[in-house]
Amino acid sequence: MKNIIFIAPPAAGKGTQSAILEKKYHLPHISTGDVLRKESLEDTELGRYIREVMTSGGLVKDEVTYDLLLKRLSEKDCQNGYVLDGYPRNIEQAYKYDEMLKELHQTLGYVILLDISEDILEKRITGRRICKSCNAVYNINSETESPKEESICDKCGSRLYQRNDDNITSFKNRYNLYLEKTKPLLDYYRKKGILYVVNGDDTVINIANNIEAILKKGM
Ligand code: AMP
Repeated sequence: MKNIIFIAPPAAGKGTQSAILEKKYHLPHISTGDVLRKESLEDTELGRYIREVMTSGGLVKDEVTYDLLLKRLSEKDCQNGYVLDGYPRNIEQAYKYDEMLKELHQTLGYVILLDISEDILEKRITGRRICKSCNAVYNINSETESPKEESICDKCGSRLYQRNDDNITSFKNRYNLYLEKTKPLLDYYRKKGILYVVNGDDTVINIANNIEAILKKGM
C-alpha cells in the first residue's frame, strides 16, 4: 500500500478519516499532533515548549517535528505504508519530508485534501470531544456525531475531553496559519500529480467512501 498524507485545515476530519484507513488497511496512523501532544505531557523543557506553542495554536519548530517524525517513521510498522496526518504543514517541511523519504527508501504516495469552509470548521471546533483512552472523536454540535451519553465514549465508556486548543482564538490562529503556510503545499503536490481533493463537508461514511474510490483507482 502506498503512503497517504492528509492535508486539511484544523478539525476538517483528518484524524477521523485516518483512523478509518488505519482499520481498513491495517496501516499505522501517524498524527504529528498526537506525537507532539504526548511529548508535551513530559515535564521537560521540550515538553513545556511544545505545550505552550500548541495551546496558542502556533506551529512547533521544524527541527522538533522533523526529529520526532523521523523516529516514528523509522519504526518497523511503517515499512509497508502509513497514514500521515498533520505533516508537512509548510513548504520547508515538505522539502525536508522529501529528503526523509529518500533516507527511509519510501515514496510520497497519495496526498488527499479534505476541502471544507471556515464557518463549518468553526462549528466543529467548539463541539469536538475526544475519548481520553481510545481517541474516538465526537461532535456535540452534530446530530450524527454526538455521543449517546454526554461526555462518555460510545466505544469504550471512557470520559471525553476537549482539546485545550479547540477554542475560537486558537482556531483562528490555526486556520490563518493553514491558509498562509499549509495551503501553498497543495500546488507543490498538484504539480507532482499526486493531489486528490475530497469534499470534507459530507458525512464521515461518504468521505471515507470517496477516499476509498481514489485509493482503489491507484492500486
Ligand atoms: P493537529 O492535531 O494536527 O490539529 O495539531 C495540533 C497542533 O500540533 C498544531 O496546532 C501545532 O501546534 C502542532 N503541530 C502538529 N503538526 C505539526 C507540524 N507538522 N509542524 C508544526 N506543528 C505541528
